[in-house]
Amino acid sequence: MSQLPTIAHFIDGKPTLGGTRSQDVFNPATGKAEKRLLLADKLTVEQAIASAQAAFPAWRNTPPLKRARVMSNLKVLLEQHADELCALITAEHGKVLPDALGELQRGIENVEYASYAPELLKGEHSKNVGPAMDSWSEFQALGVTAGITPFNFPIMVPLWMWPMAVACGNTFVLKPSERDPSSTLRVVELALQAGLPPGVLNLVNGDKEAVDTLLSDPRVKAVSFVGSTPIAEYIYAEGCKHGKRVQALGGAKNHAVVMPDADVPNAVSALMGAAYGSCGERCMAIPLVVAVGDAAADAVVAGLKTEIAKMTVGAGTSAGVDMGPLVTRQHFEKVLGYVNQGVAEGATLVVDGRNVEVAGFEDGYFLGPCLFDHVKPGMKIYQDEIFGPVLGVMRVKSLQEAMDLIDAHEYGNGTCIFTRDGEAARYFSDNILVGMVGVNVPLPVPVAYHSFGGWKRSLFGDLHAYGPDSVRFYTKRKTITQRWPSAGVREGAMFSFPSTK
Ligand code: NAD
Repeated sequence: MSQLPTIAHFIDGKPTLGGTRSQDVFNPATGKAEKRLLLADKLTVEQAIASAQAAFPAWRNTPPLKRARVMSNLKVLLEQHADELCALITAEHGKVLPDALGELQRGIENVEYASYAPELLKGEHSKNVGPAMDSWSEFQALGVTAGITPFNFPIMVPLWMWPMAVACGNTFVLKPSERDPSSTLRVVELALQAGLPPGVLNLVNGDKEAVDTLLSDPRVKAVSFVGSTPIAEYIYAEGCKHGKRVQALGGAKNHAVVMPDADVPNAVSALMGAAYGSCGERCMAIPLVVAVGDAAADAVVAGLKTEIAKMTVGAGTSAGVDMGPLVTRQHFEKVLGYVNQGVAEGATLVVDGRNVEVAGFEDGYFLGPCLFDHVKPGMKIYQDEIFGPVLGVMRVKSLQEAMDLIDAHEYGNGTCIFTRDGEAARYFSDNILVGMVGVNVPLPVPVAYHSFGGWKRSLFGDLHAYGPDSVRFYTKRKTITQRWPSAGVREGAMFSFPSTK
């Protein structure tokens, strides 16, 4: 039996053991197993759901301002614990510390937005809709809600979900990624410290068994999912089959169009961060550049090559490092396989990051930045989400050709255009079949008070994540029509359908 520290679940306000299966959690910079994660069985997940169900009536009736105050407290705690939380992210995900801080900050902004829930829940009121009759619509909590989250933002993506869900009066069961669960768990502990009553927010660690229990248990009313497209599609179908409200955000392959009139040095700087930041493990990363015209393509490739030569790859905890390791050995091998495949498919490997070495971290999952030119639509490295530091450049002749390419791709999460031509930018953002668009902005991730979501096979469901859509997702509308006729006035029966005519 492993002697590693055990990561448990968090149910009813306390650490809870449960499940007979477990798996190691690795530090991707060293390749060493550091912790042992318990994988929840059905019974453990049911225990978490029962705790959330029991906490719901009191929490639903807690004044919205009191619920919101917990979010304000949590914001302060997250800021106070920033160093500790970022260290936990980097130790299991691998991203560099400043990037972990960026993730935490974007997560905090979602907590901040959830603290405005009383304002967002006020509903709508109409007086005199009929004789002595008033009507209003209110947003009621659903009950027990659940979230299933990916490895690449272990703090931010859970914070897209549960703060607004509980601020709206729901209770929650969170199932984070099994690859880097420690920072997610620490935030849940801090939420209790901020004043969340036991049972309002529970966390179960686990895999498919835990997820399937959440999807089939009738006490769970809504499920939010963020992860890869095949699993998102499964979650959506399975959750809907069991009568739940589901939003399932999937994978991506985001194209950046570089127009002939673009400011190339600035576009190159923007593309560097968007392609290689967080080792390309972002659903809004840019793994593809579509250059309009050979002159733009040649300038972009030359610029990227120069900038890549200046990059430092190393442990996420080391100072001055631009890019850390990939998350697991398995993922490292998958990404490496794609680089080999790109070469075999005939793309030109302009920068080869396959043999990068990091002194002192020889067993880490490091892959250097890779750059392909002459990527073609038929290639697997074009079609598939690689989710690694691999950027491909494609060459087209016109903006329309670039847009046709983007529209034909199965994913539609994010895209951007670099240009100085307002008309082209407006045409692109109006017509492109993608959910989030940047104009000279490489990572157009909406701020916390707008909602986040892709089109096509990047999102299954109708409502996007966080922002105003999250209030709709985590509540159901009820419309009440009320009349107080004057005492003593007798009214006859009315057989026609009531109207204001
Ligand atoms: P993943 O799909 O492997 O896992 C996501 C979650 O699903 C995890 O909690 C995991 O335990 C669970 N899961 C995995 N296999 C399952 C199965 N067979 N049945 C039930 N549950 C299962 O995703 P990942 O590798 O952790 O994250 C990377 C992916 O997430 C990428 O595809 C990325 O594009 C996507 N992502 C999308 C967004 C977005 O907003 N669209 C944001 C972040 C990440």
